[in-house]
Amino acid sequence: MQLLATGNFYFRSDIMNRVNDNFRILPASYLFSEVGRRVTAFKSENPLADLIRMDIGDVTRPICPAAVEAMHQAVDDLSRSETFRGYGPEQGYDFLRNTIVEWDYRRRGLDVSEDEVFISDGAKSDLGNLSDLFSADARVAVTDPVYPVYVDTNVIAGRAGTLEGDRWSRIIYLDCDAEDGFIPRLPRERPDIIYLCFPNNPTGAAVTREQLKEWVDYARREGCLIIYDSAYEIFVADDRYVRSIYEVEGAREVAIEVRSFSKTAGFTGLRCGYTVVPKELRATYPGGEPCSLNQLWNRRQCTKFNGASYIAQCAARALYSVRGRAEIQADVDYYRQNCRTLSEALTGAGIRFCGGVASPYLWVKAPGELTSWQCFELLLRRAGVTCTPGSGFGRCGEGYIRFTAFNTHEATARAAERIAKTLK
Ligand SMILES: *Cc1c(COP(=O)(O)O)cnc(C)c1O
Repeated sequence: MQLLATGNFYFRSDIMNRVNDNFRILPASYLFSEVGRRVTAFKSENPLADLIRMDIGDVTRPICPAAVEAMHQAVDDLSRSETFRGYGPEQGYDFLRNTIVEWDYRRRGLDVSEDEVFISDGAKSDLGNLSDLFSADARVAVTDPVYPVYVDTNVIAGRAGTLEGDRWSRIIYLDCDAEDGFIPRLPRERPDIIYLCFPNNPTGAAVTREQLKEWVDYARREGCLIIYDSAYEIFVADDRYVRSIYEVEGAREVAIEVRSFSKTAGFTGLRCGYTVVPKELRATYPGGEPCSLNQLWNRRQCTKFNGASYIAQCAARALYSVRGRAEIQADVDYYRQNCRTLSEALTGAGIRFCGGVASPYLWVKAPGELTSWQCFELLLRRAGVTCTPGSGFGRCGEGYIRFTAFNTHEATARAAERIAKTLK
């Protein structure tokens, strides 16, 4: 350690040199900052341009009245000594765990119990925190294109190996393409942990029971864990597609399901989600000693988490009331209408795309040989419309762009017309 002399004092030049080196090798997250940079540049060059944002990665409809009323009530509870609540259970309040089990699982004929549901401040934290449960040498598989959180959290945990070009040496990539409807094929190399997300961000692909069964069967056969992200399950209206992985027989033995109220009810700023860890999930320590992932996750949460806020949990419970269900359905229908507007315009112009049926995302093939970023520039300059370049989600996203359904009906209709004209 170097010591710097300044008058009579000695200052150390730096603090301890044991910073997690994985942060150094983690590339800067480039996608959304680059989109932002180009949009800002475009606006300053074209101050009068009527730019329509179709890259919005956040919901725009406000939180529904049923949840807002529940929050007002919760604030009042906290303001009076008779109803005040301090620390809540680390796993979440029983009133919410019971409601979730009843509405999201039992009423759909799915077997999940209260002590398997862990309330959190959202899916992103849970997806990252689950990393605590696995050894540093566990092999991880992700789809390509992919929601970047799965990869980056494993890089931080030291499971990714070294970056070779655009890929990590120890991560198993499941390449997806249009031919397979962006549903991954089983891996050639056996992973320990498989991240799956359906309905998918960014491709909008939803999975059928038969397709997902192949994965559950594979995981049972090979002894893999599936981490199933179903943040967009509410967008599934067609019974052919899966809303929960537990709709597939045997999934309780191999799958953790991560869910969120962010996209289902506009809780992106309020923060509440939950993770289901079935008691059947039997894993072993590297020495072979068996353990329960449900107990491990409970221990992890009790150690590092003090529960989601009472106010957020009261709001989440209200979403399951008669009024709450109707109100969030109306918001989902609002976004669905945008999907239809965009889908019709793209279909009418003969543009190839997928998604937009069971998800708020449309995944569109750039015309000809255009790269994702070239298509982004074309749309920005010729149509005054933004999108998210697919290449930002992985190698297999090259040549694609993503539109979201999170704008207003009016803006979406205008954008759809311009997109159709520009890309056809
Ligand atoms: C938005 C999103 C989430 C939800 O994250 P929260 O932390 O709950 O807001 C999870 N997974 C995917 C793929 C998402 O797009």
